[in-house]
Amino acid sequence: MAGHVLSSGSQSALREANSARLLGAVRQFGGITQVELAEATGLSPATVSTIVKQLLLAGIVETRSTTRSGRRAQMVTLAHKSGLLVGAHIGTRALRLAIADSRFEILAERTLPLPSDHRLDTTLDRTALLAMELVDGLGSTTSEILGVGIGLPAPVDPTTGMILDQGLMRGWANVAIADVVSSRINSPVAVDNDANLSALGEARFGAGRGFRDVLYVWASYGTGAGLIIDGEIHRGPRGTAGEIGHTLVDPQGPICRCGSRGCLDTLVGAQALIDSLRISRGPMSLSDLLEFASSGDPGCRQVVADAGAAIGVAVANLAVAFNPEVVVVGGELAQTDVIFLDPIRAAVNHRVLISRENPLEVRRGELGSLAPVQGALAMAAELAHVPGGR
Ligand SMILES: [Zn+2]
Repeated sequence: MAGHVLSSGSQSALREANSARLLGAVRQFGGITQVELAEATGLSPATVSTIVKQLLLAGIVETRSTTRSGRRAQMVTLAHKSGLLVGAHIGTRALRLAIADSRFEILAERTLPLPSDHRLDTTLDRTALLAMELVDGLGSTTSEILGVGIGLPAPVDPTTGMILDQGLMRGWANVAIADVVSSRINSPVAVDNDANLSALGEARFGAGRGFRDVLYVWASYGTGAGLIIDGEIHRGPRGTAGEIGHTLVDPQGPICRCGSRGCLDTLVGAQALIDSLRISRGPMSLSDLLEFASSGDPGCRQVVADAGAAIGVAVANLAVAFNPEVVVVGGELAQTDVIFLDPIRAAVNHRVLISRENPLEVRRGELGSLAPVQGALAMAAELAHVPGGR
């Protein structure tokens, strides 16, 4: 008898393992036919068919008729009957885009590299095309898109949806970006600054979950911050709230891209970090620099730690004024973890007002480079009045 119980237990464990393997393949491919599922998982067509039936009954997957190589086939996707959300981050060097269902389960995701100084029209074209391609891959049409959120590496005026002309993204100012994308994919579109959206992403789904007042720091090619006040993004009337990269650190410093003298970004922007290693190490990319720092290169470590100390002072000043419950740090520099975060922790908790009762916790973001995309999905849900988006 004991042997029988054991074998039925291992049977159900096997079924669960097969089911998990199949769901993993559906997640990876977005939309996939049953024949392709058998190939991708190594399961027999009969087993695939049985598992798909069970998942269909449980409401976990959906099937739609499609054609593959001229033959009719059943496309399997994760269930998204109530519509799709699109979240995109047009970054300095990459375009990231994800399609999610209305419960924020990511159904498909893609990253494309972008040339430096990428042009507005081609990048917006690529964004719309990639969204349509991924939606199509799910066996869906753009009519199922409930809302689109887009993050950009510049302040966005919340009333006009336009980038402020600060020389931060050449050629992108005075263009109604949401309207351009909306006319191509025929869905409501909202645009915001990527630090704001990363803050929202981490506050809803990541390291800031459960807090109402979050100070988020985005340290990447430039530095920004996002303020979550009482659970909502604080943008300010012109959308420049949290632009700590353009706060003054050196009255005699060089002129910044924004036109002011001595901004924090002239000290800790990617170009400044790379330039400070030019004599000793020659030219390198930001990702090289961060990788060398993580693997123990003393010069690169020093550059990242000094950037943390400088950003830490700006964060400390903001934390004294704003009194957040937690500080969350994201962006590429946060990949080096304690090398970058410990100097921020030291600077923040060096302020007596902050540390008098308890030290203010400085956490590393949990969502990595997907933080702005997740925030864009949350903004898309708000736009579409999807519950849970708020
Ligand atoms: Zn500046």
